[in-house]
Amino acid sequence: MQGTMLWILAAALIGLALLTGLPDWRRRLLMRPLFRTFKRVLPPLSQTEREALEAGTVGWDGELFSGRPDWNALHRYPVSELSEHEQAFLDGPVEALCRQLDDWRITHEDADLAPEVWDFIKQQGLFGMIIPRRYGGLEFSAQAHSRVVMKIASRSLTAAVTVMVPNSLGPAKLLLHYGTAEQKDHYLPRLARGEEVPCFALTGPEAGSDAASLPDTGVVCFGELNGERVLGIRLNWDKRYITLGPVATLLGLAFHLYDPDGHLGSEPDLGITLALIPTDTPGVEIGRRHYPLNSAFQNGPNRGHDVFIPIDQVIGGRDGLGQGWRMLMECLADGRSISLPALATGAGKLCSRATGAYAAVRKQFRLPIGRFEGVAEALARIGGNTYLMDAARGFTCSALDNGEQPAVVSAIVKYHLTERMRETVNHAMDIQGGSGICLGPRNLLGRVYQAVPISITVEGANILTRSMIIFGQGALRSHPYVLRELEAVQDPDAEAGLLAFDRALTAHLRWGLGNAVRCLWYGLTGARLQRLGFRPRGEPVVAYRQLTRLSTAFALSADLAMFTLGGSLKRRERLSARLGDVLSNLYLGSAALKQFHAQGCPEADRPLVEWAWRECAHRAQEALLALCDNLPNRWLGRLLKLWLFPLGRSYAPPSDALCDQVVALLLRPGEARDRLTAGLFLPEAPDATLNRLETALTLSVQAEPVLRRIRAAMQAGRVDSGDPEQRLEAALAAGVITAADADRVRAAVAARHEVIAVDAFDPADLGHNPDRIRTPIPTTQAEAG
Ligand SMILES: Cc1cc2nc3c(=O)[nH]c(=O)nc-3n(C[C@H](O)[C@H](O)[C@H](O)COP(=O)(O)OP(=O)(O)OC[C@H]3O[C@@H](n4cnc5c(N)ncnc54)[C@H](O)[C@@H]3O)c2cc1C
Repeated sequence: MQGTMLWILAAALIGLALLTGLPDWRRRLLMRPLFRTFKRVLPPLSQTEREALEAGTVGWDGELFSGRPDWNALHRYPVSELSEHEQAFLDGPVEALCRQLDDWRITHEDADLAPEVWDFIKQQGLFGMIIPRRYGGLEFSAQAHSRVVMKIASRSLTAAVTVMVPNSLGPAKLLLHYGTAEQKDHYLPRLARGEEVPCFALTGPEAGSDAASLPDTGVVCFGELNGERVLGIRLNWDKRYITLGPVATLLGLAFHLYDPDGHLGSEPDLGITLALIPTDTPGVEIGRRHYPLNSAFQNGPNRGHDVFIPIDQVIGGRDGLGQGWRMLMECLADGRSISLPALATGAGKLCSRATGAYAAVRKQFRLPIGRFEGVAEALARIGGNTYLMDAARGFTCSALDNGEQPAVVSAIVKYHLTERMRETVNHAMDIQGGSGICLGPRNLLGRVYQAVPISITVEGANILTRSMIIFGQGALRSHPYVLRELEAVQDPDAEAGLLAFDRALTAHLRWGLGNAVRCLWYGLTGARLQRLGFRPRGEPVVAYRQLTRLSTAFALSADLAMFTLGGSLKRRERLSARLGDVLSNLYLGSAALKQFHAQGCPEADRPLVEWAWRECAHRAQEALLALCDNLPNRWLGRLLKLWLFPLGRSYAPPSDALCDQVVALLLRPGEARDRLTAGLFLPEAPDATLNRLETALTLSVQAEPVLRRIRAAMQAGRVDSGDPEQRLEAALAAGVITAADADRVRAAVAARHEVIAVDAFDPADLGHNPDRIRTPIPTTQAEAG
C-alpha cells in the first residue's frame, strides 16, 4: 500500500515536471486556473499585515527555507566581536553596577533599585546604549548591548529590565529612525544622559496581543498652548503594564489618530500614530505601580484625559501621522533579537554555573547529587540548552551588527530562548531542592524562577509568537517564492499579474520538485552521500548533512501545507506552530554549529555541540511527524510521512552517554564550563552565593583525592568508620593523610555547609503589615528559642 502511494506521488511529480517545461500549455492549463483560484481564495492583506510583512530582512532563515542551506555562507557570516571600548565598559561600569546590586534588598525590602543605583545607571549612559555618540550615547554594537544585558541579568532581573527597556523599542529607537532633526537634537542627548526616563505605551486593557486594535484616540483639533491657539491633537488613552511608566518623564504613546474635521486635508481615519508626551503634561495620570511577580522593576498603568499636544510631538512630525504601525514593525526586530534572548541566556548561564556547582557539592546518599542519573538527566538539559541559547544569541547579534533586521529570526529567538530558559530554570530549581525554594539573600534562583512568565508574555506573548508569527511571517518573508506569488495575485493589472505569477510559480514548482526528489534520496540514504561544500576542520560533519536533510524536508512540507491549505493555514495555528518549530530548531542547530566553528572547534566543547544539534534534529523530526499526523488530508499526511522518513524515525534525542559527557563539564571547573558561562557576573565578595558555590566546588575538587585515599584505607581496614571528623583523625593517625590533607577536607566540608545553608527569618521581619495578627509561636518552641 505504502509502496503504491510512493509510485503515485512519483508519477504526479514527473507529470508536473513535464508540464512546467512547456510554457504555453503550462500557462493555459495550469497557471490561469490557479491564478483565478488564488485570487479568489487569498484574503487581501490589511494595511497592518502588509506593514508587518514588509518589515525587516531575511538572512539565515532564507537559507533554511531554501531546503539547501549553504554552509559556507554560514561560516562566512562575520562574528561580531566587542571593541576595546565595549569590553572596557563591561569590565568597568557594568561590573561595578553588578557589585552594587543586592537583589534580595531590591525585590523584598525596597521594591525598587536603590537611588544610588538609579543614578549610576543614568550617569554611566546605560539608558543610551543604542544612541550614537554624536548625541552623547554609547553607540554600542548589538553584541555589546546583549552582553551588557546578559551580565546584569545574571545578577538582578530588575536591574536588567530597567536597563533593557530604554534601549529596546521605545522613544530613543523610534526617534533615531523617524524623528525630525529638532526632535533628535532635543531628546536624544537628554535620553543618553538619563535626564529623561522613557517608557513606551502600546498595551491597554482591551488591546493586548492584538495591539493594532488599540482603542486609544487622538483627534486633530485646535487647542491652547502657552496662550496661543495652535493645531494639535487631543488624546485620550488608557494603558497598562507599561515598564518604567511609573517613573517615566517621557512617554512614547501609540494611539489611533482621527481628523474628523479635515484640518489636515486628508482622510478622517489616519491610523496608528506615535507621539512623545512629557509626563508632566496636564491630563496625564501616571505613577501607580503593578507588581509583576515580585520583580521590582517599575511597571504600571497610565491614562490621559483630553491631553492636548502640538503636532510636532508626533514622532516624525507631520510625516509620521498614521505611520505608527509601520514604525513599530520596522523597529521591532532589533529589540526583540537582543533584550529577552540576552536575559534568557544570562539565566541559563547562571543555572549552568551555579546548579552545576551545587550538584557537585551537595551530597545525599554519600554521593554528590550530580552523580545520580536522575539529576544528571536534568543537568544535561541545563548545559545543552545554555549552549544553544548562547549560540543563537551570539549568531543573531552578529546578524544585527552586519546590518540585518531579522524579522522572523527575532521571533524565533524571542520564543525559543525564553522557553528554553523556562525549561532550564525549572530543572535548576528541581536540582536545588529546598535551597532554590527558600527565598532570602542566599537564594540565587527563586526570583529568576518567579520572573520567567514575564519574559514569556512580553514582546509578543509566546503562544501567539509560536502559533502565528514564526511560520506565518516566515512563509511569506523567508520563502524564496511565496511573497512574489502573493504580490502577483494582488496586482490590479490582471495580465501583468498572471505573467509574474507564472514566472514565480514555475520557478517555485521546479524548486519544489527538486526538494521532493532530494528529500526522498536523503531519506533512503540517510543523507550520507551528500557533499558538504566545505573542508571540515573538526566540525561534526554528520550534523551538517542531517540539518540539510531536515531543511529539505521542511521546505517540502511547508510547500505542501501551503498548497493544500492555502489561507486557512493561518487559522490552523497548531500546524503553523509545528512548521515554525521545524524552522526554529534548524535555526538553533545552525547557530550551535556556527558557534563551534567560530570558536575553532574546541574539543572540550564537542559534547555540547553534539547535544545541541541532536536535540534540534530530534525536535524538528518530531514536529514534522506531528504535522504529517495532523494534516487534514489524511492520505497526504501518510504519504508525506513516508516520503520524509521512508525508513522510519531517523533522529533520537541526545543519548544518555552524551548527556553524561555534558554533565561532566558542569560538575568540575574547566575550560568548557568557563566558555559556556562566559559573560556571567562572577562576584568576588565572600558572602555572595555564587562565589560561595565556586569556592565550595574548587575545595571539593581539591579534597577528592584525599577522600579517595581515606576510603581505600577504610576498605583495607586501616581506618575505622565513624563520623567524618573521627575518620579524618584516624586517617591522620594511620599516616594515610597529612595534616594539610585533613585541612583540605575540613575546608571543603565547611564550604559545603555554607552553600547548603538557607535563610531563616525572625517572623517579625516577614510581612509588611504591622497590624497583622501573628500566629502565636508554640510555648515550647518559644522557650527553646
Ligand atoms: C511585566 C510586563 C511588562 C510589560 N511592558 C510593556 C511595555 O513597556 N509597553 C507595552 O506597551 N506593553 C507592555 N507589556 C504588555 C505585553 O506586551 C502584553 O502583556 C502582551 O502583549 C500580551 O497581552 P495580554 O497580557 O493582554 O495577553 P492577551 O493578549 O490577553 O493574551 C493572553 C494569551 O492568549 C494568547 N493569544 C492571544 N491571541 C492569540 C492568537 N491569535 N493565537 C494564539 N494565542 C493567542 C497569548 O499568546 C497569551 O498567551 C508588558 C506586560 C507585562 C506583563
